[in-house]
Amino acid sequence: MTGILYIVATPIGNLDDITFRAIEILKNVDVILAEDTRHSKRLLNHYDINTPLRAFHEHNETQKSADVIDALIAGQSLALISDAGTPLISDPGYVLVRTAKQAGVVVSPIPGPSAMISAMSAAGIATDRFGFFGFLPNKKVARMKAIQAIAHIEQTVIFYESPKRILDCTKDLLSVLGDQRIVCLAKELTKSFETIKTDTLPNLLGYLNEDAAHQKGEFVILISAIDKDNKIAGEEQLDKVLPILLSEMGTSKAAKLAAKITGIDKKYCYQRAIEL
Ligand code: SAM
Repeated sequence: MTGILYIVATPIGNLDDITFRAIEILKNVDVILAEDTRHSKRLLNHYDINTPLRAFHEHNETQKSADVIDALIAGQSLALISDAGTPLISDPGYVLVRTAKQAGVVVSPIPGPSAMISAMSAAGIATDRFGFFGFLPNKKVARMKAIQAIAHIEQTVIFYESPKRILDCTKDLLSVLGDQRIVCLAKELTKSFETIKTDTLPNLLGYLNEDAAHQKGEFVILISAIDKDNKIAGEEQLDKVLPILLSEMGTSKAAKLAAKITGIDKKYCYQRAIEL
């Protein structure tokens, strides 16, 4: 009989956040595939789980998937875990799950924590419709482009950010979304310094700048949906001033001046100007 591939969620900080079923499955499968075996050992030791561990990460996923499928077809059952939270959510596993399903292997989820869902449950931002964008690009130009693309989405937008870029990213959010949009920074969820701040971007920047420790840790960022009747801050002003400026000067100069007047990013103003 073909084995089962279990996709097992593990804690995102607090080791107690694991289900009874997850522990049972991890104890009973033939092999656990882990992103970082040394990291996962801590969790497995804590629960006295002695199942053999194999490395399975983004750099060997494609190459390893074939071997894993062979083992499943030979009758072994395996569990995939990541360093934290739910595998495949900004973590490896997609290639493996797709290949397993194509090979007719049963893939079974063992649900548990995910930082994005945990953050959303406590942010106080609408949860009826949302889009998850993983990590935004690291480089400023690409990140600004990505923020401009999500600025108009009529649903809650969620993404992950590292402590290295949290300050720059929040500044970029302010320059595109303006000072009225409500955003949540959910930091160090389930850990000792858990902090969930839902506020305007100037206030969130104030919080980050207040103390270097406020920029440390793992972050989920949630952006409230654009209000259809309430365009993003500065945009109404942009729509008013751009046509006037364009009637007096070239596109590039008009965009530059519009950016100064509205506080909106220059590239965004330029894009808007060429659309008019
Ligand atoms: N698979 C994970 C999940 O289900 O949430 C996400 C893995 S992703 C590689 C790691 C990112 O998730 C971190 O950089 C951070 O943005 C977010 N994250 C993970 N744990 C978190 C926590 N305890 N508090 C806030 N964000 C967290």
